[in-house]
Amino acid sequence: MSTIAERLLKVRSRIAQAEAAAGRTPGSVRLIAVSKRMPSGCIREAYACGQRDFGENYVQELRLKAEELKDLPELRLHLIGHLQTNKVRSIVGSVSMIQSLDSVRLVEELAKRVQLPAVDPRRIWVCSGATTPANAPAVGLGKPSALPVLVEVGVAGEAQKSGCKSEELAEILAAVDAVPSLCACGLMTVPPFTDDPDSARPHFEGLRALRDAHGGAARLPELSMGMTLDLEPAILAGATIVRVGTALFGERTTPGVK
Ligand SMILES: *Cc1c(COP(=O)(O)O)cnc(C)c1O
Repeated sequence: MSTIAERLLKVRSRIAQAEAAAGRTPGSVRLIAVSKRMPSGCIREAYACGQRDFGENYVQELRLKAEELKDLPELRLHLIGHLQTNKVRSIVGSVSMIQSLDSVRLVEELAKRVQLPAVDPRRIWVCSGATTPANAPAVGLGKPSALPVLVEVGVAGEAQKSGCKSEELAEILAAVDAVPSLCACGLMTVPPFTDDPDSARPHFEGLRALRDAHGGAARLPELSMGMTLDLEPAILAGATIVRVGTALFGERTTPGVK
């Protein structure tokens, strides 16, 4: 069994190789360590190795870990699982980014609950293209203290269980733009599960094309796509964020805290 430190090195080197193969700038792809259904101790261990961004699927579990890990000043927790409107109240204040925004109704609920500043400045996600938090407008694209959100799109259509439809994207983005405490930084997708890394490629390319049709990288710099199995094709298609769980923490054997 290798340690989390060793696995982190391996995943970071996979990312670096994929960046090079795609002709991308080194460091242009950031890693979200998906810690769902893993104990807080795993996050602590990865944090000690310099990892700062972690992905959680369930609101209760994210809140619990935020509490257990509040002594880690630069920890950023990302919600990557479906958010129900009745859970919005519980997540605000613990989360650095919501990657699973999928409806106008959710935007309306967040607008009611998120106060400025939405995130502790030490825990703020600096959007791709910015080098420091002072380097506006890429920090939350001109809304520096707003909560960064990604709109999750089900680019594969019917086969996908999560995300909005491509046709709904414009309306959701317009709704976010109208809320001072929220900032739309990009798009996220979770393609239908298969064990063939190449099967997701058209969906990754689809997400990128959708982004290009809605203002391009200047408006939506982040593309969150690619997991343990398929981070290479995702990076080739333009991912700026990959979400990796199994390759870092091993198989998940315990249920989540829902
Ligand atoms: C679990 C999960 C991941 C990580 O998947 P692995 O295959 O374990 O790397 C990434 N994104 C989302 C939305 C997930 O639910």
